[in-house]
Amino acid sequence: MNAYEVVIAGGGPGGLTAGLYCSRAHLKTVLLEKALPGGEILNTGVIEDYPGFDVIDARELAKRMENHARKFGVEIRQLEVTRIRKAGERQFTVETPQESFQAKAVIVATGGSPNKLGVPGERELAAKGVSYCAICDGPLPMFRNRPMIVVGGGDSALQEGLFLTKYASKVYIVHRRDSLRAQKILQERAFNNPKMEIILNSVVQAIQGNEFAESVTLKDLQKGSVRQLPVTGVFIFIGFTPNSHVLDPSLGIQKDAKGYLLTNEFMETSVPGIFAIGDIRHQLCKQITNAVGDGTTAAVAAERYIEGSLHLALGATT
Ligand code: NAP
Repeated sequence: MNAYEVVIAGGGPGGLTAGLYCSRAHLKTVLLEKALPGGEILNTGVIEDYPGFDVIDARELAKRMENHARKFGVEIRQLEVTRIRKAGERQFTVETPQESFQAKAVIVATGGSPNKLGVPGERELAAKGVSYCAICDGPLPMFRNRPMIVVGGGDSALQEGLFLTKYASKVYIVHRRDSLRAQKILQERAFNNPKMEIILNSVVQAIQGNEFAESVTLKDLQKGSVRQLPVTGVFIFIGFTPNSHVLDPSLGIQKDAKGYLLTNEFMETSVPGIFAIGDIRHQLCKQITNAVGDGTTAAVAAERYIEGSLHLALGATT
């Protein structure tokens, strides 16, 4: 078994920052990431709200974070964490399909997965016009100069919808309520973009198509009317579900009703030695800046926990 002081599960901005700080503290640390370091930000185009960079390509920011963490010696492995469990007093096992790792402290940074609409045609037409990632799929030739629909009214829907206007003939934003949830600056851009049309109080009831998506069934919730809207791309951004299932149920870790992990100000979960950071933890907003701050705190807290000087909180009993 590979023995480490800290295992970091997840390599988004939070995990990479925790890796940087743990390594600087000379803790033997491994970061396990199922895909490429960078996490969710690799699914976006440009970042314009990370201090110090008024505009930066998301991939460049991710690469810089990875390089910075590696510079201080963090080991990064491309492995998917499938289970985190207790392995005795102040010891944890972090499992992947290939290998298991022993850790004195675990920093959980596994983020979340995109929510599904759950309507007919969504599953059948996934990757055939139905997508959860504009940056990955928007530039594909099949969408060029065609109408697309984006479902959702949050930051992701508007940001990704604005990105899609580069390729689409038209982008419809379909939102279930009478007002958008997204930041005002994104709303202004969306309302001012001639290629965008915002359809409020409406829901997608089904997605039709043979080989590829061809139209959606749209219901106006105020009028009760239903119509077919021809579209080639259906991009769904209706929030996400935290990947907290990797924590073994026997840990009894505290979560909120949606599955986000509860932490205190030290990023400690209810299980001493397990810390949670970034999108997986219950907090007001999910920004890169939040994840980076969480990663810093968790690394310092993990160091103190390992040396036995961290005051335990959240009702912990050991
Ligand atoms: P979100 O803020 O949770 O928004 C999800 C949207 O989907 C909401 O408008 C919600 O409607 C709608 N929705 C949820 N379930 C639905 C369903 N079953 N059918 C139809 N619509 C549904 O998620 P997000 O936009 O992915 O953002 C997640 C977090 O990342 C947020 O904290 C956000 O601020 C952050 N983020 C930030 C940026 C940035 O530029 N800084 C970019 C992307 C994301 P209701 O409004 O009615 O609930």
